[in-house]
Amino acid sequence: MYKIKKTFHLAYGHRLLNYKGKCENLHGHNGVVEVTLKAASLNHERMVMDFTELGGKVKLWLDENLDHKIILAKADPLAPLLKEQGQLCYLTDENPTAELLAELLFSRFTGELKLPVHKIAFWETPTSMASYKK
Ligand SMILES: [Zn+2]
Repeated sequence: MYKIKKTFHLAYGHRLLNYKGKCENLHGHNGVVEVTLKAASLNHERMVMDFTELGGKVKLWLDENLDHKIILAKADPLAPLLKEQGQLCYLTDENPTAELLAELLFSRFTGELKLPVHKIAFWETPTSMASYKK
């Protein structure tokens, strides 16, 4: 099995509902996303996928959906207020934890982007990471 990994940086804001701790307050992170792809065999260029192609697809998705956005649970009462003020929000079904975001990116990148994702690692801070793979 071949694997390749590419790293992406994004800035986002979020908060967690029904949670006691620092993350109950609206705050920001400089997150890092590691996308690992897998392939049992290489393509005609002897690659799993061209890093430039992978970078373009993932960066575009992150730019359009999460980068410099506020990520909130759909149930968060702040969501309609921020949208009303023209703030760009990305709404999640549950609290936007690093674990949930890793799973969400795995799902979007395999589904919408049709990438052969092996694993997504989502670094919320330089020392705190959650990962998801099937
Ligand atoms: Zn946080």
